[in-house]
Amino acid sequence: MSSDVTETNEDERNAPPGDGLPVNELFASLQGEGVLAGVPSTFVRTSGCNLRCWYCDSYHTSWEPTHAWMDLDAIVDAVEDRDPHHVVLTGGEPLVHDDSVRLLERLDDRGYHTTVETNGTIAVDAPIDLASISPKLPNSVPTAERDPVGDGEWAERHDDRRIDLDAIAALLESYDSQLKFVVADADDVADVDALVARIRDATTATVRDDDVLLMPEGATRDRLAETRTRVAELALDAGYRYTPRLHVDLWNDAPET
Ligand code: SF4
Repeated sequence: MSSDVTETNEDERNAPPGDGLPVNELFASLQGEGVLAGVPSTFVRTSGCNLRCWYCDSYHTSWEPTHAWMDLDAIVDAVEDRDPHHVVLTGGEPLVHDDSVRLLERLDDRGYHTTVETNGTIAVDAPIDLASISPKLPNSVPTAERDPVGDGEWAERHDDRRIDLDAIAALLESYDSQLKFVVADADDVADVDALVARIRDATTATVRDDDVLLMPEGATRDRLAETRTRVAELALDAGYRYTPRLHVDLWNDAPET
């Protein structure tokens, strides 16, 4: 799981995006979540997000973003240096960057299967084989008690931005999709029920219960041990699909997994 990403100095970090993307990590591993869990994949993790979930498991792309600028040729070369046929563009929120579309076009030209992990607030026109849409529930709001760095300064902005039904509908209508929700308890599943009903009203796409995935909250093995059985039982009761977090089970919270 070697990386092509090196740390940059502060000036480079603040440089305006040119032909390329701010890449926090680039590595090959197993897809840990969703309908493709277990599939060898190359991950391109961009830095930068328009939300601030308190539980963010890619903290260095959101709360304290770090990255190296990589031009698109270098990213494609790094993907081609690795074996997997599947590429996962993730973040942060990769779709905040215009060049994510250009990267997806280049990967598609080379025959890769592309998954985009998105929070569902931005819709784009790009060659995406699987849109993995993870709308954020009320349980994501970084209240003063849960804020990892401050006193809830992001809470209102995050809450205002976290659901965009038009963007979710556009993604669902354009791509094969999964709707993936981070869940800890029964209250969260009630929020999923309510949001899925709103999404079904907002889109012409068919959203089957099978397309709705409940994923246990927890970025460490210890936390996952507290949530996963409860969330699996909640999924069974609700008729939704359960998704593991294989990478946490296998490698805990190690980077580049
Ligand atoms: S949307 Fe994703 S990347 Fe952004 S803060 Fe939330 S969990 Fe982190």
